[in-house]
Amino acid sequence: MSTKYIFVSGGVTSSLGKGIISASLAKLLQARKLRVTIQKFDPYINIDPGTLNPYEHGECYVTEDGAETDLDLGHYERFLNVYTSKANNVTTGRIYRSVIHKEREGAYLGKTVQIVPHITDEIKRRMLLLGQTGDYDVIITELGGTVGDIESLPFVEAVRQLQWELPKEDCVLIHLTLVPYLSAAKELKTKPTQHSVRTLQQNGLQPDVIVCRTEHPIPMEMRKKVALFCNVKPNAVIESIDASSIYEVPLTMMKEKLDEIVMEKMHLEGLPEPDMTKWNDFLHKLFNPEQEVDIALVGKYVELQDAYKSILESFIHAGAENKCKVKVHYVHSEYIDASNVAEKLQGMSGILVAPGFGERGIEGKIEAVRYARENKIPFFGICLGMQMAVIEYARNVLGLKDAMSSEVRPNTPVPVIDLMEDQKSLTAKGGTMRLGAYRCKIEEGSLAHKIYGKTEISERHRHRYEVNDNYVKALVDAGLRTSGKNPETGLVEIVELPDHPFFIGVQFHPELKSTPENPQPIFVAFVKAALDYKNRAK
Ligand code: GLN
Repeated sequence: MSTKYIFVSGGVTSSLGKGIISASLAKLLQARKLRVTIQKFDPYINIDPGTLNPYEHGECYVTEDGAETDLDLGHYERFLNVYTSKANNVTTGRIYRSVIHKEREGAYLGKTVQIVPHITDEIKRRMLLLGQTGDYDVIITELGGTVGDIESLPFVEAVRQLQWELPKEDCVLIHLTLVPYLSAAKELKTKPTQHSVRTLQQNGLQPDVIVCRTEHPIPMEMRKKVALFCNVKPNAVIESIDASSIYEVPLTMMKEKLDEIVMEKMHLEGLPEPDMTKWNDFLHKLFNPEQEVDIALVGKYVELQDAYKSILESFIHAGAENKCKVKVHYVHSEYIDASNVAEKLQGMSGILVAPGFGERGIEGKIEAVRYARENKIPFFGICLGMQMAVIEYARNVLGLKDAMSSEVRPNTPVPVIDLMEDQKSLTAKGGTMRLGAYRCKIEEGSLAHKIYGKTEISERHRHRYEVNDNYVKALVDAGLRTSGKNPETGLVEIVELPDHPFFIGVQFHPELKSTPENPQPIFVAFVKAALDYKNRAK
């Protein structure tokens, strides 16, 4: 069978959930035993989102091979339970960089280098790249942005060309739009969808399927109307009604037969029925919790849901695994100090100190660690959160009052968290952190060992600073256990406190590998510890 290409574009507004629709369709096709991957093309000029503030585009997701990518890749991995890579996220910046690089090499032989055909050729080459590996039957390509935006045009043009160049049955275009409900008129409105499809058509593209995001069911008559105006069959107008969980969307798409319509267009007959057993088991646990637990997420980007996307999703997976609903309470680290920490963290059965960059909110995070340590409340520190746990221990147990990270105070006299030599000479910010999967050796008999059930693990990283080796002996002598280390460099990856019921800090980002079918072990153990704490306190 030839590789099939499915493109997913969006119209009317952004944030309609193209990533979730793409991932849901991929899940259904995967459940029919097809090998599927998803890639995202983002129209911005940054080479990758690594240099973006979380307020701009939410969390930056990191792949095994160390690419800093759009957070939608996190959804792809969580839904498919399969890793993505550098090749799965392409930006306008990367396209232009390679075209300009080729031009400087003289590869265009004196020609004028133009958006069409040179930029669009490079976009098409990247769109087809994963399909040429032979690893996949279906490549789903999500087009970032909204059709009609100036910056999306070259991507739309590339898809137009591919619609003609690929065999008809190898190319499907799905367009996601919004059907708003006007409460004053008590009516759903299809006009924005019609206009958005017309914009596509003006660019020479014809969608095969229209998925309408809506708050209310769309009646058949209305679907027929959309079909009539947009040149698709009525059964190819699909409703995507708001769901209580993103993990429900594959099932709502299955009910709407999105997979079947796409299969019909791709001439894929005789595929098995989708096997969603594991997924349904997860949903059953998710929707039938037996208990609740309150966990504080101490961070500085708390105004924006998407900034901690993978952590929140990990709590959903770990909660389901523990048959409990995890209620995550955002606590702004900037507003925590010694005088109010007890009040801010009151009633919490677990405290997670979040990853982050820069000085803002640092002291509040350190206070939150101290509170968790002294009051024996389950604690989980991730990346910067782990670094703050080390600083807290150095200050309040070891007595090194000036302990600090050199990220926050470059000339600190006590840099317990510091830059490694190989980072010191770097000047460029993009793509230069310690990124992607690294191995970690775990000490036998430690909490980490109990959690993972093995002595060697691999987790993903995204940081520049490390626990400073010069202070490790003193910290260990004072009672901090460094239970996980990188086997090549000896860098500290995991710290814990043996005389605390559950206190763990990790330099890596375990949240990046949690999926519904494989919940991350530290999150599962942390939620369990929080439940134990709550039930003991009763
Ligand atoms: N800012 C810290 C560092 O660069 C931690 C990064 C993070 O939390 N991802 O080391």
